[in-house]
Amino acid sequence: MAPGGSICTEVIESNSTVSDYDSTAESNCASVKTSIVLGGKHGIYSNNGVYELLECPVCANLMYPPIHQCPNGHTLCSNCKNRVRNCCPTCRYDLGNIRCLALEKVAESLELPCRYQNLGCHDVFPYYSKLKHEQHCRFRPYNCPYAGSECSVTGDIPTLVAHLKDDHKVDMHDGCTFNHRYVKSNPHEVENATWMLTVFNCFGRQFCLHFEAFQLGMALVYMAFLRFMGDDEEAKKFSYSLEVGANGRKLIWQGIPRSIRDSHKKVRDSQDGLIIQRNMALYFSGGDRQELKLRVTGRIWKEE
Ligand SMILES: [Zn+2]
Ligand SMILES: [Zn+2]
Ligand SMILES: [Zn+2]
Ligand SMILES: [Zn+2]
Repeated sequence: MAPGGSICTEVIESNSTVSDYDSTAESNCASVKTSIVLGGKHGIYSNNGVYELLECPVCANLMYPPIHQCPNGHTLCSNCKNRVRNCCPTCRYDLGNIRCLALEKVAESLELPCRYQNLGCHDVFPYYSKLKHEQHCRFRPYNCPYAGSECSVTGDIPTLVAHLKDDHKVDMHDGCTFNHRYVKSNPHEVENATWMLTVFNCFGRQFCLHFEAFQLGMALVYMAFLRFMGDDEEAKKFSYSLEVGANGRKLIWQGIPRSIRDSHKKVRDSQDGLIIQRNMALYFSGGDRQELKLRVTGRIWKEE
């Protein structure tokens, strides 16, 4: 017999009188809260058996209403119920259409810490809103913003800044203005184009300046854009400008940095940055058009 099933039976038995059920639910809830306070670092997988009870014994996902049970008390989630054609996977009895209201109520009474507690989120959530919170929790880890290679590193901003510096050998600059020269000896091959990333430290925050070549329709273009190492809400408080030119001609871009929550590819594909057609880039480079030599200047400022 699956552990979930036997425990569910106990819950149902204790439900024979309303007062019994209430005291069970309350003591469960109280013990969960106590373990959170005492444990401090308890994550979602380390709470007591009540939490395990809410794992579907068939698919091991957490169960949300309607939670079903067979006449013998074996619980299962509604997805699994639809799949098993009315036959309890544990005891083979006809499932019928019985809801496990007791377990649904126990779940409702639970309060669990956000799974990103160790990253700084100290909020505690009712069972049914925890998942939704975690999808948007501002402490959820960021993906490595380095483009041009598959990098699976995730973490908070200080971790990623150290990672960019140590593992990707990214240039770090202090200050809110910059003057960068991009030199590429063979500008005709997109595949060969380097993905360049520079990190700027200013206003106590970090910004990623991306510069790269890509194919836009039939044309090869260069693109420069800024991403903010933090959430979208804070990114919107900043603006930036980029300028590139030579021989009395100039392209100017002014924009708002995108959060690194938006993938590099998403920002690139939305063309939210300074785009330089190859012909123009080679013209700005001077010389015999065999070498790309672009001077990009820029500034980051905070909007009041
Ligand atoms: Zn299931
Ligand atoms: Zn059963
Ligand atoms: Zn959270
Ligand atoms: Zn990385």
